[in-house]
Amino acid sequence: MTHQAFRYALDVNDRQRGLLASHAGAARYAWNWGLRRIVDTMAAHRAGEATTCLPSAMSLHRDWNSWKKSEAGIAWWTEVSKCAPQEAFRDLEAAMRAFWDSRGGRRAGPRVHFPRFKKKGRTRDRFRLTGAIHVETGHVRLPRLGRLRLHEAAKPLLDRLQGGSGHITAATVSREADRWYVSLAVEVDRTVPVSNGYRDTVGVDLGVLALATLSTGEVVAGPRALRAGLRRLRRLSRRHSRCQKGSANRRRVTRRLARHHARVAAVRRDHLHKLTTMLAKSHGRIVVEDLNVRGMLGNRQLARSLSDAGFGELRRMLDYKCRWYGAQLVVASRWFPSSKACSACGAIRTDLSLGERSFRCPGCGLVLDRDLNAAINLAGWAHPAVAASASETENACPRGGQTAPGAARPDDAGTEPQRASSPGPRKTWTLHKGVMPKGGEVHGKET
Ligand SMILES: [Zn+2]
Repeated sequence: MTHQAFRYALDVNDRQRGLLASHAGAARYAWNWGLRRIVDTMAAHRAGEATTCLPSAMSLHRDWNSWKKSEAGIAWWTEVSKCAPQEAFRDLEAAMRAFWDSRGGRRAGPRVHFPRFKKKGRTRDRFRLTGAIHVETGHVRLPRLGRLRLHEAAKPLLDRLQGGSGHITAATVSREADRWYVSLAVEVDRTVPVSNGYRDTVGVDLGVLALATLSTGEVVAGPRALRAGLRRLRRLSRRHSRCQKGSANRRRVTRRLARHHARVAAVRRDHLHKLTTMLAKSHGRIVVEDLNVRGMLGNRQLARSLSDAGFGELRRMLDYKCRWYGAQLVVASRWFPSSKACSACGAIRTDLSLGERSFRCPGCGLVLDRDLNAAINLAGWAHPAVAASASETENACPRGGQTAPGAARPDDAGTEPQRASSPGPRKTWTLHKGVMPKGGEVHGKET
C-alpha cells in the first residue's frame, strides 16, 4: 500500500468560492486559537501555575467544541465542516511535535521553528477534510461543500477507485492566486515491482545550464517556458513595486503577479515530473549527487537557477518514482568529487573552476563536457566494486534518515549477482571517452 496524491484544479462558482474561503478562514482561526492556548499553557507552566502537559489535538478539539457554542461571535462555525478546525488542530500538534523533536535533536534536517500565528492574506489559504469524499467524472464531492467541478475528468483516479485499488483518505483544498485546487490523498494498492527490468546504471548530473546531464550523453534542458516565465515575473514584480501602495492599480498588478507565479510553478512542476518519470521508467539504477541544496542556495549567484530547477523537488520525486517503477536510487556521497575527477583515469583536478565548461585531464588528455564527465563518474560510483571501496564515505544516512528511502546501501549492491558480474567501471567509462552517444540508445540492458 502506497500513498499517492492526486491534485486537480477546481472550477468553482462564486458561492462555492465563498464557502471555500470560509473553510480556509475557519482552519486558520482554529490554528491560531489552539496556538494561543498552547502559548498560554507554556507561560503558565513557566510561572509555576500549571503542571499540565501541552494540549493535544484531541483535547484542543474537545475544548473548541464547548467554546464555540458559548461564543456568539463566531456564528460561521455552523456553515463550515467540523473537519476543517479538527484537521488544523492535528497540524498544530504535528508542528509542535516537530518543534520539540528538532530541539531535542530527535529530528533530522534543518531546525524547525516554533509554530507561528497565521495572518489572513499572509499565509496560504488551505484546509483539509476527511470523511465522505467521493469522486465522479469531472467532479469531487466533499463534506459540507458538496459537489465541486474539477478542471479535468480525473480518469486515472476514477479507474483506480472503481477498480478497488484506491481509497481516498483526505482532501486538502488550497488556493494559489485566484485558483482553488484539491489534492486527494489516496491509499493505492500498487504492485511495486522489484525491478523494472533494466540492468543499466545511469549517472545524473544536476546542473545550472542544463537541468540534468545523463551519463548516456542525453541532456535535459530546463523548460524554455520557465525561462520566459521568469523574465515576465521579474518585469511584473518591478511594476508592482512601482505602483502606489493601496491603489487599485497595485491590487490589479498583485493579482496578475500571483497568477503568473502560480503558472511558472506549474510549468516547473510539470517538467520535473516528466524528467523523473522518464528516469525511473527507463533505467535500472539512477545515481545522483547528494547536493547540499541548502548550502548551495547560500551562494546567491547560483541560487536563482538552482531554486528554479527545483533540485530538492527533483530528488523527492525521483525517490518515490523509483520505488513505484522498480528502479534503484543511489545517492552518491556529497564528498565524491564527481565533477573534479577524470572519468577516464580517475585523476583529480583540484583547480577546476566553475566557469570551465569542459573537463581537460592533464593526466590522460581526456577532453569532455564538464557535466557529462560528472555524470559518467556518478554512474561509475554506483558500481558495487566502487561502492564497496567507497562505503566508508557513502552518505547512506548522514543526518538520520535524510537519504531517500529508495536509495541503495552498499551491502544491497553486493547481493545482486547480475551487477557483480557486469563489466567494471573503467570499461563503462572509456566507452564514453570523448564521445557523446546519442540520447536514448543506451537504455538497453548491460550484459
Ligand atoms: Zn584522465
